[in-house]
Amino acid sequence: MKGVFIDDQDDQRDIISRLLEKSGIDFSSRVAPTKISEIRARILDLNPDIIVMDYRLDEVHQDGYDGDFRAGGLAQNLREAFLEYPEKDAPIVLLSTESNIRTLFQPDRTAHDLFDQWFLKDQVQDPDEAKREHVFRTLRGLITAYRSIKSLRTELNGENAVRLLLGLSESEVKVVQTDGLKPLLVNASGELEATHHVARQLLKQLILRPGILLDEASMRSRLGLSEDDDAGFMRLSEKAGFNSFIYEGVFSDGWIRYWRHRFNRWAGETFVEPLSGLTGGQRIKLINDHFDIEVQPAVSRWSETSEEYFAVACRVCNYPTEIRHSVAVFDPRPSVFADRGRVCFDCVDLEREMARREIRVEESEEETVRKIQNHEIKRPGEA
Ligand SMILES: [Zn+2]
Repeated sequence: MKGVFIDDQDDQRDIISRLLEKSGIDFSSRVAPTKISEIRARILDLNPDIIVMDYRLDEVHQDGYDGDFRAGGLAQNLREAFLEYPEKDAPIVLLSTESNIRTLFQPDRTAHDLFDQWFLKDQVQDPDEAKREHVFRTLRGLITAYRSIKSLRTELNGENAVRLLLGLSESEVKVVQTDGLKPLLVNASGELEATHHVARQLLKQLILRPGILLDEASMRSRLGLSEDDDAGFMRLSEKAGFNSFIYEGVFSDGWIRYWRHRFNRWAGETFVEPLSGLTGGQRIKLINDHFDIEVQPAVSRWSETSEEYFAVACRVCNYPTEIRHSVAVFDPRPSVFADRGRVCFDCVDLEREMARREIRVEESEEETVRKIQNHEIKRPGEA
């Protein structure tokens, strides 16, 4: 796997390239940010599997360099080049500082769509290996996803596109709610859209939003299992056979996701009552008895008890969250294959990261948000 990291500051470029090499991707090729036309030619010539770039590429002024261009303009230009040379289509990742990323995305929300993912430079320099590895796994996952889409392209048509991209059999795809997904992936003539377009839709609409696919936090919420009990989740996963629910379609290398319908079928076959009708404490007692294990129940961050009907993972903190102590997130693009997101009262109260992640609540919830933040809605036991 070959990558390119573009930064106008030589020392930064060398340091970050070396750090990125720890992902197992070869970042030794150099692309100087001279002129957009030259970078474009050089990238098409190098044909990398992934392109990582800083936001400001024009801070260091050198002779023969364009005076003013930034990652957004370059990404846009490369995307157009890839439409001409579809076999070279590659993921583009933004790696910059917090303030630069904000400057790019704030005035122009569509800039989000130019990049497959963005990370802070601090994340690849983090002393915590797990945090660095998260970035590296994402980079590798993007590369393999692009490769899978390209290799499936010859077999794909408007009819089987969804099934093949999601790695499902003909019988199973019929029970999954994918209505509305196909038009996002296939054009009006029945041809698959450009690789980067298909990748973006699958990642943003399915992988990064729980719905027909669940992440581990959503699984824990449905089970009423504590967010902190990692060993418990692993033990239960082994005993209950959660591995057989794992999604194996495009992006499954970088992101572990579980099919919701397989989980639901397991729950229906294993327990007499629907789990959603039980509190977290009741669910965990049932699970512990049934599997002869001792996993810990989730605790509401608002009411601080396990006797809540946990339903979703909070969009901000990821903790198991009950409907009655959470607000609905505004979703500009509701669909049957994605669940509506919610944010717990605790995150609303502490204003945890909502603005930074650009999470807005439904208009009908604004009153509740105001009341929580004014302490008109109090925590249980609060004076
Ligand atoms: Zn939360």
